[in-house]
Amino acid sequence: MTVLDRTFAGDHSGSLADDVVPTEEWAAEIRRLARQRGATVLAHNYQLPEIQDVADHVGDSLALSRIAAEAPEDTIVFCGVHFMAETAKILSPQKTVLIPDQRAGCSLADSITADDLREWKAEHPDAVVVSYVNTTAAVKALTDICCTSSNAVEVVASIPEDREVLFLPDQFLGAHVRRVTGRTNLHVWAGECHVHAGINGDELAEQARTHPDAELFVHPECGCATSALYLAGEGSFPADRVKILSTGGMLDAARESKARQVLVATEVGMLHQLRRAAPEIDFQAVNDRASCKYMKMITAGALLRSLTHGTDVVDVDPETARLARRSVQRMIEIGQPGGGE
Ligand code: SF4
Repeated sequence: MTVLDRTFAGDHSGSLADDVVPTEEWAAEIRRLARQRGATVLAHNYQLPEIQDVADHVGDSLALSRIAAEAPEDTIVFCGVHFMAETAKILSPQKTVLIPDQRAGCSLADSITADDLREWKAEHPDAVVVSYVNTTAAVKALTDICCTSSNAVEVVASIPEDREVLFLPDQFLGAHVRRVTGRTNLHVWAGECHVHAGINGDELAEQARTHPDAELFVHPECGCATSALYLAGEGSFPADRVKILSTGGMLDAARESKARQVLVATEVGMLHQLRRAAPEIDFQAVNDRASCKYMKMITAGALLRSLTHGTDVVDVDPETARLARRSVQRMIEIGQPGGGE
């Protein structure tokens, strides 16, 4: 038994987790426990740097869910927020999916419940329901087609013009889709992500003025950046300096960019991967307060506890998973879904 094992022996409460420091010994122990458990560790781009560095794969939610489905390991430790781990479970029902702290929610996903959606559907019985991937499994199960922000416009455009559409839960993405498609029978749920609040039009315009040579990277696959996506479309930042990119695209663009400075409109965790990909570029957050408190709940101690005790197990009942899988599969078939949040 190692020092770290002894720290956690018998502690299922997590009370000791906050004391764990991410040292090299910790990283070696994480890898040893993952091997012993037959687990692969996946980390979302918005995770703490030490979690990204110890993980087997780092990426966005849809890409990670696909890796989870293809990985030879039977156990997936998903370092991200709860709806992402649920999506991995929906796509890999036969695997054990763990999240190091099940309290890691998402304010955007929490802005609509299955009961809310049932009521909304009852008011519009003929409408087609389109849900952004940041939703719970129960909401996905009541959805006709899921979408990412990369294919939201194409998903809505694929629906006959005379059918009403209920678009949820992100009001910024919904407004963007309505503007691009010109569709008047698109109803948008008034949900939002708490992190985007600081990425507003005035701030973007001010950043454009004070950083005249900088490029702007917007990663649209998260509620925290959908407001930037909307504002960039409105002209708050010169269009020729804006790049709307998926995570992979953002990393490729960083490697190819000639810019000395790049402003990044998304959750601040993304800066870690970008700085690794292109150390010569000065990457700055459009809003350095854009940090997701839920993502940061996956700490060094929480991951250690997860691998030590096999917690917290993510389960989706088979019927919900079957229905939710249908709406996720439709999403994957339309346009370029990108990588999800
Ligand atoms: S950044 Fe926003 S949308 Fe993304 S997980 Fe956190 S609360 Fe949810």
